[in-house]
Amino acid sequence: MKICAYVQRQYAKQNYKNECFDTRQFVGLRVVMDSLSRAGYPVEWAGIATVTEYDIVLVSLTADCDWWEFLKERVTWKKGNYKIIVGGAGVMHVTPFVPFVDYFSLGRGEESIVNLVRKLDGKEGYEDDSIIDAREFSPDKIYHVRQTDHVYPYEVKLTAKNSFKENAIGCNHKCLFCGYTWQRKFLSDKDFYRFSTGLFDMEDKERAMLDLFKDKNSIDWRHLRSTAMDGLSERLRFMVNKRITRHMLETFLYEMIHTEEIKPHRMKFFNIVGYPTETEEDAFEFLDVLRKIDLEPGRKLQDKAWGIVLSSMHFNPTPLSPLACAPVSYKNHRHNLHNLLAPKLSGGYIYSGENLWCVEGMGTETLETVIMRIIAMRGKAEDTENIERLCRTKKFWSASKPVQQMTLEKYFDIDYLFGEFDSKTLPTRYLRTYCAVEKFYDKPPWKEPWIIKPKK
Ligand code: SF4
Repeated sequence: MKICAYVQRQYAKQNYKNECFDTRQFVGLRVVMDSLSRAGYPVEWAGIATVTEYDIVLVSLTADCDWWEFLKERVTWKKGNYKIIVGGAGVMHVTPFVPFVDYFSLGRGEESIVNLVRKLDGKEGYEDDSIIDAREFSPDKIYHVRQTDHVYPYEVKLTAKNSFKENAIGCNHKCLFCGYTWQRKFLSDKDFYRFSTGLFDMEDKERAMLDLFKDKNSIDWRHLRSTAMDGLSERLRFMVNKRITRHMLETFLYEMIHTEEIKPHRMKFFNIVGYPTETEEDAFEFLDVLRKIDLEPGRKLQDKAWGIVLSSMHFNPTPLSPLACAPVSYKNHRHNLHNLLAPKLSGGYIYSGENLWCVEGMGTETLETVIMRIIAMRGKAEDTENIERLCRTKKFWSASKPVQQMTLEKYFDIDYLFGEFDSKTLPTRYLRTYCAVEKFYDKPPWKEPWIIKPKK
C-alpha cells in the first residue's frame, strides 16, 4: 500500500509564500501519519503532480473554508486508482462533496483511519460510523464524530525545531456557537482551555476571559496578547452562553490599563458579529464600556495608551453546535462597526481616548467569503455541479469581491443557505457528537432565552 499526505499548492488562509507542511502545523494529520506508521503503513508527502502514484491519499482540511482550495486542485487531478480519505476539523458537512472523495473521517482519526487503511489493505477491521463511505452516504443515516478518552501518547515531530505533545483536548466552556467544544469532549488535567505544547507556544498569550476571571492573579499582563469576548453586549454573550457580564469586561479593561508596571501594548479581542437578534444597540454598549473605562481614571495614566484590536468574525452556524440551525446575517460586516460607532475617526478606529484606543481589525470576512463558508456547512447535493464549475473557473477566483458575490447569488440558493432550520430540516442532521446537541435544534436560544441570565 502506498500512502501519501497531500500538500496543496494553496490554502484558504494564505499565510505563507511557499506551501509545505513545515510551515503549516497540521497536527491532526501528523498524529494520523504517526499512528499509521506505527501500524506498519509509512506515509509519504505528495502534491498535485505525484498524487496518482499512491493507493491512498490523505487530505487534511482544518476549516470548512478549506474545501474550496482543495477542490480547485482536486478537479484537476489526473485519474488514478487512489482512494481519497479526507479528515480534520473542516470535515463535518459532506453532502455536496460526496463525488470528490472516497471516505470522510469525522473527528479523531488516529485509530479510525488505521482501521480503514487496514480494511482497504484486505485485513480484518471493525465497523466504524465515524467513517463515511461516500458511495453509501445518506443524510438519513446517523454518523458519529469520533472521540477519544486519552491524549495522543507520543511526541510528534512537526518541524526540524518543533515537536508536538498533546496535553489537552477541547475546552471546558460551552459557548453555543463553538464547534471546537461541541465536536470534541474536554479532556485535560487543568480546568481551563490551553494550547498544547509545541503548538505556537500560546499558553500564556491567549486565554478565555472567563478563566482569567476565576483567578485575577493568574493574568500575566506581560505575556497576554489576546482573549475573546465573542459578543458586543452582555445580552448577546449570555444568549450564546458566553457568560461575560458587562461588569467583568469593564473590570478586565480597568485592570489592564491600571497595571502600571507594564508598558501599554496591543491586545487582540476576538469577537463575533451578526448573531441572530443583534442590533446597533449591542454595538453601542461596547463603545460605552470603552468610554467609561477610559474616562473613569480622569487622568492620563501612562505616556502611551493601551490598544485593543477588535477582531470580529461573521457568525457561522457551526455544525454540531447548538446554533447549527440559526439564521445567518446576510450583510457585509467588514468596517461596519467603525462606520457605525466612529465614522469621523480615520484608520478604522472605533474609539480613541487618553488611556485606551480600539480599532476594528481587518479580519472580518466579506460576504462572498461567508457565502462560500456557508455552502460548505449547509450545501445540498444539487450544489455539487455548481461547486465543481466554480472550482474549474479561474475567472471567478480572480474576479472582484462584488462580482464573486453576484456570481454566488446567481448559482446558489442564498435564502436557503442563510435561513433557519430545525431538527428535521438541518443539512447536518446526520451528525452526532459526544453529547445530545440535537436536543437544542428545536429550542432556539435566540427565540427562547432559556440560557441563564446575568445576576443583577
Ligand atoms: S469559544 Fe473559546 S471559550 Fe468558548 S467554548 Fe469555544 S474555545 Fe471554549
